[in-house]
Amino acid sequence: MPEKILIVEDEPTLQDTLAYNLQRAGYEVRLTGNGLEGLELAASFQPNLIVLDVMLPGLDGFEFCRRLRQHSTVPIIMLTARSDEVDRVVGLEVGADDYLTKPFSMRELLARVKAQLRRAEMFREELRKAQGDASPETVLRFGDLEIDESRHEARLGGEPLALKPQEYRLLNFFARHPRQMLSRERILEEVWGWNFIGDSRTVDVHVRWLRQRIEPDPSKPQRIITVRGEGYRFEG
Ligand code: CA
Repeated sequence: MPEKILIVEDEPTLQDTLAYNLQRAGYEVRLTGNGLEGLELAASFQPNLIVLDVMLPGLDGFEFCRRLRQHSTVPIIMLTARSDEVDRVVGLEVGADDYLTKPFSMRELLARVKAQLRRAEMFREELRKAQGDASPETVLRFGDLEIDESRHEARLGGEPLALKPQEYRLLNFFARHPRQMLSRERILEEVWGWNFIGDSRTVDVHVRWLRQRIEPDPSKPQRIITVRGEGYRFEG
């Protein structure tokens, strides 16, 4: 069964190019240029991945992401019109997994698609394993902070933390490597699956969000320590 990709992009030329290249790479493709129709297709077509433009009629890409993320963890690659820090950060905040700035090469897009699909598959496998093994060892404890791998949930003082999927993955990765120096490149590779390009500021943005959730005083972090010029260390 080929993996299914939904393209939500209103620019006809880019639509055609995306569809042609993704089909040629062996994916089953559906297309729409409208955000609202895209949400309906996401439900009926059940894609393995979504390529999503930001500026769309009907519903913009950010709102699309926000609504879809309420019930779905399907990987989303966002297409932004300019290399705008705000678009990028908002995109990640609303739950996009990766982003590409127009114009981009089809080769780069295909590499990102492959990386995201591979990461999603690894994630499903971990989840299957965790569910098959409901032993108490799947809860990692650091004082009042608990990472419950079988439920994909983190708790602070017994209260579940409302983490986005990517924040949870990052915290889980830290928790699995306590007191180790972790470079931004390694974190990107293991948590985001970006082993070919990598924008390390993405890691910094997510660390900042995570600190706001788990640090008593995010301006003086005690759990996630910045190692100047090197990366981060999780002290739990
Ligand atoms: Ca557009």
